[in-house]
Amino acid sequence: MSDYITTIGLEVHAELHTASKMWCGCKNDPTEKRPNVNICEVCMAHPGTLPVANKEAIKKVIQVGLAVGADIADFTEFDRKNYFYPDLPKGYQITQFTLPIVHDGYLDIVTEGVQKRVTIVRAHLEEDAGKSLHDDFSGFNGEKSSGIDLNRAGTPLLEIVTEPDIRSSAEAAEYARALHTLVVWLGICDGNMQEGSFRCDVNVSVRKPGAALGTRREIKNLNSFKHIVQATDYEINWQIDEIEDGRAIQQATILFNPDTGETRAMRTKEDAHDYRYFPDPDLPPLVIAPEWIEQVRQSMPELPGAMAQRFQAADGLGPEDA
Ligand code: ADP
Ligand code: MG
Ligand code: ZN
Repeated sequence: MSDYITTIGLEVHAELHTASKMWCGCKNDPTEKRPNVNICEVCMAHPGTLPVANKEAIKKVIQVGLAVGADIADFTEFDRKNYFYPDLPKGYQITQFTLPIVHDGYLDIVTEGVQKRVTIVRAHLEEDAGKSLHDDFSGFNGEKSSGIDLNRAGTPLLEIVTEPDIRSSAEAAEYARALHTLVVWLGICDGNMQEGSFRCDVNVSVRKPGAALGTRREIKNLNSFKHIVQATDYEINWQIDEIEDGRAIQQATILFNPDTGETRAMRTKEDAHDYRYFPDPDLPPLVIAPEWIEQVRQSMPELPGAMAQRFQAADGLGPEDA
């Protein structure tokens, strides 16, 4: 077993903590329990409505980018990712495909005393979908049915993607923890993992030393650091067993069941071309002025890593205490 190398890349979705949604003036309130309270023509996708980008959300993306030492694009645009799902009223998600706002950053993590740099390929701004309610929802005739709550539809979501730099479940959880600390520190995300404000997709593959990268399977929507470790470890062992038994790994999107500790396939993985990405004609390209980036840089608080280093250097604290 031990002669396999594990390769992991993370995609983290962080809901941005803004007053209003990404394209309309509706309140962005993840704590609202009553369904369909914070909705309007725009986030319900009525014909003829047009999105207007939320400047505060873009500022928060710039803050995260600067905090991870990334480049901020001066020219970006928004793309449509087309798919059908009941909680997606437009029939497409507005996202950024070719030109993310943030690219080429990093986050340093310490696992078992060893420091390591995880490369962040990109962080792009997109919108969250609504929610399907399946449990105990009684429909119009009193029959059991499903409901759609669009309160969350059109709320700003930041997707932060790493290189496949990570080598173990412990490193994956540590990276997620470090990123979580950072976005909560910056006040850009409320960090409530239980409620899905910060959720992680973990891409896992295994290979023999010297071999090319293995085929990955993507574990979706892990919402605790413990689940990241459990799901990743289960998946690594599962993949090794498959290969040892002479079966090839198929690229797939999989779900983790915390009750059984197992992962299972949800669907075979779509390729990018299945989504028919194209630039959203309703939104102009986004030009970010260097002066604005500089302004945001000046307004940044001291970051957790820098503060810990300062405590160690100036006050002689050990790493744990710092
Ligand atoms: P998609 O958007 O289709 O999920 P990406 O190319 O953006 O695909 O990759 C998603 C994540 O998968 C990234 O974090 C990347 O580092 C990781 N990844 C890519 N190839 C592998 C691999 N062979 N094994 C493990 N992780 C991988
Ligand atoms: Mg993915
Ligand atoms: Zn709205």
